[in-house]
Amino acid sequence: MFSKAGSNRFEFDLPGDTDILQYRIFASGEAQENDPARWELRGTVDGFKWDLVDKRAKQEFCSRFQDNVYTIAKPKKYKKFRLEVWADKNAKLALSEIAFDAFDSIGAWKDFHGPNVVFTNEAPDSDGGKLFSSLVQEPEEFMRDCARKVARTLYFSPEDEMPGIVTINFALADFDGVAYKSGHSDIKYSVRHIRNVSNSPLHEFSMENRGVVVHEIVHCYQIGPKGDYQNNKEIFACVEGLADAVRADLGLFDMRTRQPGGNWADGYRTTGFFIQWLKTKDPDAIRKFNLSCHKLDEWSFDAAMKFIFGSDATIEALWQEYQDFLAKN
Ligand SMILES: [Zn+2]
Repeated sequence: MFSKAGSNRFEFDLPGDTDILQYRIFASGEAQENDPARWELRGTVDGFKWDLVDKRAKQEFCSRFQDNVYTIAKPKKYKKFRLEVWADKNAKLALSEIAFDAFDSIGAWKDFHGPNVVFTNEAPDSDGGKLFSSLVQEPEEFMRDCARKVARTLYFSPEDEMPGIVTINFALADFDGVAYKSGHSDIKYSVRHIRNVSNSPLHEFSMENRGVVVHEIVHCYQIGPKGDYQNNKEIFACVEGLADAVRADLGLFDMRTRQPGGNWADGYRTTGFFIQWLKTKDPDAIRKFNLSCHKLDEWSFDAAMKFIFGSDATIEALWQEYQDFLAKN
């Protein structure tokens, strides 16, 4: 979405049948100086009287296609919104999308600020290092934002028992592979992988970049199931599947790549898409799946399905139902 010369005003029609609790503004893939910096949002319920719904100044977007969430203080069943928005100084405005939501994605997480982030670029002269900087202008805030989204996806509230992550050490480095987490919360991300995926369209490149980071942050925040990651295929698939389930749930996979076949214990996206699909049966399925790792003394997919859906549930039956769903869609 680009503003035409002199036009910084956008209007949106809504059904008007439900309270709008928040709105999200997505930055564009253009330069950061073109991002929305200040705006006024007005709304009308009856088509005549316009309320000033929200007003912001000095806003920043830490990465390209970054989605910033703004809670509406006095929600109403608005039928129409009008946004007047400007970039900083006299820069041309660019943004990619605006969404109005009948849900509040922050809710109980208002005071959850996320971890400290120590960012190091160990390969600043590499193509991948430069490409990363073109996508992510403020790596610390970018990581914190990803961490907040991961925590909200894995847990019901900040009061839940979760690994205490104070600081994430995040480094770009030159190695073969994609990314890995070591120690408590040290994440290394390969500049070679960044370069290799940079040929795709900018939006897809950005999605892959954010998705890799989210996958590794899940490893920091998820509860590890009791069992042997190296030798027990189900434990491995649980850990890697949950990381990709959260990535999928945050919209960071092309869901058209879902295909029938494979096994629930294959791990990564084969398992991840399945766990994410479980949300069609219970909106809290990902959170309960993560909780099962904490609660079950002997973790298995079958035990986890019984933990989430009750003693009649089996992994075989749920996997078959998921396969049938994939075959039809
Ligand atoms: Zn992983």
